[in-house]
Amino acid sequence: GTLTLEKIKEIVEQKNVELLHLQFVDIEGILKHVTVTSAQLEDVVEGKMMFDGSSITGFSPINKSDLYLQPDLNTFAVLPWTVEEGYSEARFLCSAANPDGTPYEGDTRNVLKKVVEKAGEQGYTISVGPELEFFLFKTDDNGNPTMALHDNAGYFEPSPKDFGERVRLEIYRALKAMGFTIEASHHEVAEGQHEINFKYADALGAADSSTTYKWVVKTIAAKYGLHATFMPKPVFGINGSGMHVNMSFFKDGQNVFFDPADSRQLSQTAYQFIAGLIANVKSFTAVTNPLVNSYKRLVPGYEAPCYIAWSASNRSALIRIPAKRGLATRVELRCPDPSANPYLTFAVIAAAGLDGVEKGLTAPAPVDEDIFHMTDAVRAEYGIDNLPGSLETAVAELENGTIGRATLGEHVFNEYVALKKGEWDSYRTAVHTWEIEKYHAKF
Ligand code: GLU
Ligand code: MG
Ligand code: MG
Repeated sequence: GTLTLEKIKEIVEQKNVELLHLQFVDIEGILKHVTVTSAQLEDVVEGKMMFDGSSITGFSPINKSDLYLQPDLNTFAVLPWTVEEGYSEARFLCSAANPDGTPYEGDTRNVLKKVVEKAGEQGYTISVGPELEFFLFKTDDNGNPTMALHDNAGYFEPSPKDFGERVRLEIYRALKAMGFTIEASHHEVAEGQHEINFKYADALGAADSSTTYKWVVKTIAAKYGLHATFMPKPVFGINGSGMHVNMSFFKDGQNVFFDPADSRQLSQTAYQFIAGLIANVKSFTAVTNPLVNSYKRLVPGYEAPCYIAWSASNRSALIRIPAKRGLATRVELRCPDPSANPYLTFAVIAAAGLDGVEKGLTAPAPVDEDIFHMTDAVRAEYGIDNLPGSLETAVAELENGTIGRATLGEHVFNEYVALKKGEWDSYRTAVHTWEIEKYHAKF
């Protein structure tokens, strides 16, 4: 899109936009916003709106706390659920800037922009199609989330078993009104689990869309008295929620992952990209799978990966190559989950792929058998390694690897590692229900 200030003024006028929300994300990708009135539109667009960075997780220290919001005009959208006769609200997604106008290094949107620029220097644009799954839970009389799933339908099941159809319809309508192209919407495998897919875009656009999507899903669900969660594994024993990331590189309007002459119709660049992911994945898993809970999803048997391998079709593999070719040729990375910060996630995945291309790495042979049902010995024979098994291991891999520091930059890297170490420590020292159930009566 190419929205100009003139065009935005027209929409503000037409739709009677009264309030403007200036949105951005913290280091975990959690959405924040400050609200001004549409009378301030010009100042907003000139980047004059200041905020206190020291109150945002992962942002600046208290002594350098003044930051400015720079709205991305293309993210302007009227919020469909606020529209009344003669009234509506709109939002911008923003990047954070230092008082001198330079990009603020603690803002993860700026981190992704840097990777996009780096790819651009090599002639590539990064195209990303994320698939974010979520659960709907009932809320109690006070509006707080319960652990009661909204329905017990399964994969692709229609009503009357799927209670989510009405909510998904309204989410779809809201997203469409905000400029999304929606490609599919369905009940997922697990009870109460859903997925709505939007069209791929450039990396920054896709990260903005992921952020917007999570907010809209939660907002509309709440209108129906439901809690939508992007927590990766809310219920033991059933599938968790993934955020598969489909990625490809384009050059001069052509998909450089496509090569009709190859036996799999994949280019050398595609194989090198896959090799880059495989070489770097352990050191970026703490970014794509950021929570203690993320590692309860990455276990065998639930369509989520835990072994490091690639395949043309296999859903037990970490990397799958969906069947589409031509412009739609892409690599699907299946480990990320929707609790991840999409800006950092797309940044580390693209950087890892670029690393493979720059170094001309060779991809291992694909594994087309079901990896979940292989013995350890067979996996060892194939040279199949494991993803980190816990947040603790993943953070150690992130710290010891090179891709994280190089991609995130010193500030975000240090803040992220410190935050995640603290999170692990809090988990490690807490006494969990599982322990009480196993040990309290017995010992
Ligand atoms: N829910 C699965 C996961 O945890 C993915 C299912 C699918 O292939 O869409 O990644
Ligand atoms: Mg799915
Ligand atoms: Mg998928």
